[in-house]
Amino acid sequence: MLSKKKETVLSQRLQEVASFVPKGARLLDIGSDHAYLPIYLLREEKISFALAGEIAKGPYESALSNIAASELQDKIEVRLADGLAAFSEKDNIDLISICGMGGRLIVAILKADPVKLATVKQLILQPNNGEDELRFWLMANGFAIAAERIVADKGKYYEIIVAKNGHMSLSDKELRFGPFLKQELSPVFKERWQKELAKLESALTKIPQENTEEKLILQQKIDQIKEVLYESQPNH
Ligand code: SAM
Repeated sequence: MLSKKKETVLSQRLQEVASFVPKGARLLDIGSDHAYLPIYLLREEKISFALAGEIAKGPYESALSNIAASELQDKIEVRLADGLAAFSEKDNIDLISICGMGGRLIVAILKADPVKLATVKQLILQPNNGEDELRFWLMANGFAIAAERIVADKGKYYEIIVAKNGHMSLSDKELRFGPFLKQELSPVFKERWQKELAKLESALTKIPQENTEEKLILQQKIDQIKEVLYESQPNH
C-alpha cells in the first residue's frame, strides 16, 4: 500500500510513461493494477482527474486501497471493467494509457470498441512484447506514432509508444524496431538489440545444418538487426 507521503514509488518504466502525459489530460489507465500511474500523475499535479480501469478483482481492490491511502478518492475513480468498457462519453477521456501487458492483449483491448476509441485523442502504450504487432495494428487502424522511447528497468527493456489519430506507413524494419527508436539509435536501444543479436547468433549455431529454412529465417532476423545497428555507422 502507498503511504500518504509525497514519495516517488513509480518504477522508471512508468515514470517514462508519465513523462509523455500532457498537462491537464483526462486519463483512463487501463489495467491499472495498483493505480500507481494515476496516483503519481495526480500528486505531481500533472492531471486533475483520472479513471483507473481494472478487469481483475484483486488488482481493482489494491487500486482502491492505494487511492484511499493517498486521499485521492475525489480525483481518481476505479472501475472494475474490461478495457474500454471502463469509460463512457460523459467521462470526456482524451488520453488512454495501457502499460505492462503483451502487445497482443493491448491490440485486443483497443480493437474491442472502435467507436469509443475514436473519441480519444492520444494513446500511451507500453507493451512488454509483440511491439511489431501493435505497431501494425495502429498503422492499419488510423493511428500514427508521435513518439517512442525505450527504457531499461531492472534488467528488462521496455518500449513506450505514443500514438495519435493519423496515418503512417511503416516498413518491416520500422514495425520491428520502431520508426523513432530506429532513427534515434539510443544507447539503450543498441544495448537491447546487441543482446538480441548475440542470442540469435548463438541460437543459429545450434540449428542442425539440414534445417535450411529455419536457419535462413533466423539469419534474416540477424541481418536485419545488423543493418539497423550498423548501417548508419560506416566505421563499425
Ligand atoms: N499497468 C500496470 C503497470 O504497467 O505496472 C499494471 C500492469 S499488470 C502486469 C496488467 C494489469 O492489467 C493486471 O492488473 C490485469 O488484471 C489488467 N488487465 C488485463 N487485461 C485487462 C483488460 N482487458 N481490461 C482491464 N484490465 C486488464
